[in-house]
Amino acid sequence: MTDAEESRVVDPESSEEERQVEAALRPRRLADFPGQGRVCDQLGLVIEAARRRGTAPDHVLLSGPPGLGKTTLAMIVAAELDQPMRITSGPAIQHAGDLAAVLSSLAEGEVLFLDEIHRMSRPAEEMLYLAMEDFRVDVIVGKGPGATAIPLELPPFTVVGATTRAGLLPAPLRDRFGFTGHLDFYRTQDLVLILTRNAQLLQIEADAPGIEQIASRSRGTPRIANRLLRRVRDWAQVHGAHVVDLAAAQAALELFDVDALGLDRLDRAVLEALCRRFGGGPVGLSTLAVAVGEEPDTVESVAEPFLVREGFMLRTPRGRAASAAAWSHLGLTPPPGGAAAGGFAAGANGQDVLPLSSDPSRLG
Ligand code: ADP
Repeated sequence: MTDAEESRVVDPESSEEERQVEAALRPRRLADFPGQGRVCDQLGLVIEAARRRGTAPDHVLLSGPPGLGKTTLAMIVAAELDQPMRITSGPAIQHAGDLAAVLSSLAEGEVLFLDEIHRMSRPAEEMLYLAMEDFRVDVIVGKGPGATAIPLELPPFTVVGATTRAGLLPAPLRDRFGFTGHLDFYRTQDLVLILTRNAQLLQIEADAPGIEQIASRSRGTPRIANRLLRRVRDWAQVHGAHVVDLAAAQAALELFDVDALGLDRLDRAVLEALCRRFGGGPVGLSTLAVAVGEEPDTVESVAEPFLVREGFMLRTPRGRAASAAAWSHLGLTPPPGGAAAGGFAAGANGQDVLPLSSDPSRLG
């Protein structure tokens, strides 16, 4: 994690310390999980049908930006099935042997949660889809020409895979999941429900306008909402306010650089770069990432989904472009011909106007 990320109060990834707080706040049952109505209804049906049949349900793939509840839902799947859950992640499984060790120790019906499943190595992926389909792994014994594959039968189990980048999963692996749920950003009213419950759990006194203000500035992300609630609580405590109210929420969120629409420093840096440096784009992802000093993956999986969903950024075949809303949110005037027209790298505020092709920073 870079310094810039570490200081982001709206970073959707969580720190180690935060994971402990999160664990205490996770809803444990589907009925207690606000938002994601359609995915929850579909998942509830898949689970209930499997329960009635007395079999393991289809494998489940959950995709969506970080902090929206993929891990929480995976835990709920295990709890609703009344089964234990094993947790591992793509980066932890670099060799097929790592995966074979996990798979061969699963009990019948157990849920295997594979976070960041798109980051598994190719040989492990191949082993996984065989195991998911046939409940079998081939254990290789020996090396070189004398190596033999000994098939090992596995008891039925359920994989719950989570990914921020469903598009990176190879088709054969994606096809092994009988159910795929895409989690979308939450509506403010769902975040209000989550925050109200969590304020009670954390014994934070908060009024409705305060909660509403935090919810509406949380980028539609429960993890961020929970974090902002704690920061506003801190602010209220230090300033001798006993209640998390509208004034406390506004003052604290301003202090942490979260703007009225919930955009944080990285979001605004991306939009600023798009508009000021690249004349509204289109510009390639890696060039944009360099301009804001971040990894392309962070820009793509963290900032971009929210900016696209809020209508600030457009994904075009030629790269990322700023919408008219982005220019006006930054208080800038779009170039003639419309924002995202892509014809000119028109600098905002009357800066140089260059044909895009002559701008060397647009490579990539
Ligand atoms: P992901 O795995 O998608 O990154 P998590 O499941 O770890 O997200 O959720 C992050 C935090 O947000 C957790 O503290 C979790 O309790 C909370 N959270 C996510 N979705 C919900 C929800 N629908 N209701 C209540 N809390 C939620």
